[in-house]
Amino acid sequence: MAAEKTLVESLREHGVSRRGFLKFCVATASMMALPPTMVPAIAAALEKARRPSVIWLSFQECTGCTESLTRSYSPTVEDLILSVISLDYHHTLQAASGEAAEQAREQAMKENFGKYLLVVDGSLPGPGSNPGYSTIAGRSNLQILEETLEGAVAVIAIGNCAAFGGLPKASPNPTGAVAVQDVVADKPVINVSGCPPVPMVISGVLAHYLTFGQLPELDEYRRPLAFFGQSIHDRCYRRPFYDKGLFAESFDDEGARKGWCLYRLGCKGPMTYNACATMRWNAGTSWPIEAGHPCLGCSEPDFWDAGGFYKALSVPIGNTGGALLGGGIAGAVAGGAAAAVAKKKTKTEQAERAPVKVEELEQTL
Ligand code: SF4
Ligand code: SF4
Repeated sequence: MAAEKTLVESLREHGVSRRGFLKFCVATASMMALPPTMVPAIAAALEKARRPSVIWLSFQECTGCTESLTRSYSPTVEDLILSVISLDYHHTLQAASGEAAEQAREQAMKENFGKYLLVVDGSLPGPGSNPGYSTIAGRSNLQILEETLEGAVAVIAIGNCAAFGGLPKASPNPTGAVAVQDVVADKPVINVSGCPPVPMVISGVLAHYLTFGQLPELDEYRRPLAFFGQSIHDRCYRRPFYDKGLFAESFDDEGARKGWCLYRLGCKGPMTYNACATMRWNAGTSWPIEAGHPCLGCSEPDFWDAGGFYKALSVPIGNTGGALLGGGIAGAVAGGAAAAVAKKKTKTEQAERAPVKVEELEQTL
C-alpha cells in the first residue's frame, strides 16, 4: 500500500535515471496521442504526481483483459506504468486468496477512500437477474461493485464485457448481463473497450489520469477519443487496395496473397473505432489485419450479435461513425473521397507534430 510515493521517487527506486524519466515523458505523450509540445508540461506534472491506488475487480470475464495487460510487460512504458501505480487489489494477479484477499480490498478502500481508481473487467448480472450467476466470496458482483464504488474517484471499465456487456450479454443473455455503465449512476465511467483492449490503451488511460489528475476526453460511448477517435479503416495499411477496389475474395486467393483489402471477407474496420492499426499488438509486432484476418469489430457495442464475422454486409450494431461505406465499387468510390480527406488530415497532423529529442529536453527541463 505505497500510494504515497511520487512517481519520480518510485521510478528512481526501480533504477530509472533522469534521462530515463524524460524518455518516459516523451513516450507518455505519444501514448496519450498528445503533441510533443506537451512533454515539458507532462514532465512537470509527473514530477509531482503521486502513485494512485487502483482496485481492480473481475466479474463475468475470461481473464483475457488481464492477460492482455500482463503481456505488455518489460521493458516497455506499460511496465513503468504498472510499477508506478499502486495496484492494491487484483484477485488474478495478487498472491493473497480467500479471506486475506477480501481483507486486502477492504484495507485498500479504507486507506485510499475517495481517491482510488476502480478498474472493472467483465460484465455482471443486472439488478433484475439472479445474483447467484456470478459471486465472489459468497457475495454478488453487484454487491461488491456498489460497495467498492463508494470511495472510488472514477471507474474504468476494461474490455468489451465491462464496457458494453460483451460475450455474456450476447443473445440470449442467459445471466441477464449488463455493462458497468448500466449500474453506475453517480461516478464518472470511462470505457476502454476491445476484446481484449490494446494494452497500450489501458496504460495510456492510466497515464493520463496520473499526469493530469483527470480522465481524458471521451466519445459518445465514453471511450477515450485519443485512442478511439479514428476507425481501423482510417489507419489501415490495406486502405489503398480498398480505394482501388482490390479485394481478397477468399483467404487463399491471389488477392489474399497480395495483401488486398479484406472487406469482402467480413472486415468491420470501416465501422470499428480502436487503436490497433497505430499501436499494434505484441510490443508493436503486428495486428490482426496485418496477420491476414479481418477486423471483427471487437471494440464496438454488441459486436457478437452483429450477424457473422465473415459476412461482408453484417454490421456491428454500434456503428459509431456513419463510416459504413458499402462493399465493392461503391465502397471504392466513396473510399477514394475519404482517402483524399484522410491524406490531407495526415499532412496537417504531421506538420503539427515535429519530433522531440530527449537531448533537447535535457537542456530545457
Ligand atoms: S476494409 Fe478492413 S482490410 Fe480493408 S482497408 Fe478497411 S480496415 Fe483495412
Ligand atoms: S483489429 Fe478489430 S477485432 Fe481485431 S483487436 Fe483490433 S478492433 Fe478488435
